[in-house]
Amino acid sequence: MANRTAIDYRAKFDRYSEDTCFPRLGEEEQLFIRGMAEAHRFTFQELRQVSEAALDLRMWKEASLGIWWERQESDVEARGRTKERFFQRLDDRMAALRASAKSYPEEGMRRPESASLKPVTMSSERDILGMCPVASEETVCCNLRTIDAVQNCGMGCSYCTIQTFYGDRVTFDADLPAKLAAMELEPDRFYHIGTGQSSDSLMWGNQHGLLDSLCDFARAHPNILLEFKTKSANVAYFLRGSPPANIVLSWSLNTPAIIRNEEHFTAD
Ligand code: SF4
Repeated sequence: MANRTAIDYRAKFDRYSEDTCFPRLGEEEQLFIRGMAEAHRFTFQELRQVSEAALDLRMWKEASLGIWWERQESDVEARGRTKERFFQRLDDRMAALRASAKSYPEEGMRRPESASLKPVTMSSERDILGMCPVASEETVCCNLRTIDAVQNCGMGCSYCTIQTFYGDRVTFDADLPAKLAAMELEPDRFYHIGTGQSSDSLMWGNQHGLLDSLCDFARAHPNILLEFKTKSANVAYFLRGSPPANIVLSWSLNTPAIIRNEEHFTAD
């Protein structure tokens, strides 16, 4: 009977684990978590919590869950209510790590491999003009609008979610010139428009006529300020030609430690 229950739980664990980040963990981490889950019958939420913690610890270069638990185990088991104390201590440890000052190894974090993105051009019915995604009733809005001209970015900033949305493709809008020409703007109103809703604004240069189209759009609408926000040094296009007067190139700058360790392929 005990064996039957263990088998049932293993089947449940296999089902549960597919919907958590458990499959992304290393073999050692998986073995540890599986052992704990089977011994203490982790629920789905508990398994998810432990798997996420294991992944965070790995990314933060902290001791693995198994090593941490080795230091706790005898003390916790002597006190009883092992599962409850395991989760309490895990919560405390993760909270303490989140609250502590970030530190990087002296030699810097290892750069990930640069993503090789396949460029594609695609037609779509997608609207390219929208409000800045941060605009809401909760924010003091500066009415920035954004043009979504390219989807995906290869700068590899570790904190940025854009890279997780578009897979291994970078998509240029085949209808960008037509969509820009059809855009209805009130002539007596001033607009501040950014160009990098889903990418770095200059990383792709003038590929597929991107910058030509955007600069033509700025020339056609003197009542806009078109902002190219970037972390690249890719300004050659603007140095070669005569850019319109109503554009601005801007850089979002972090501290040297963040640039070195988190913004992997941005300009030095
Ligand atoms: S440059 Fe901007 S869009 Fe690209 S990965 Fe970094 S933060 Fe994200």
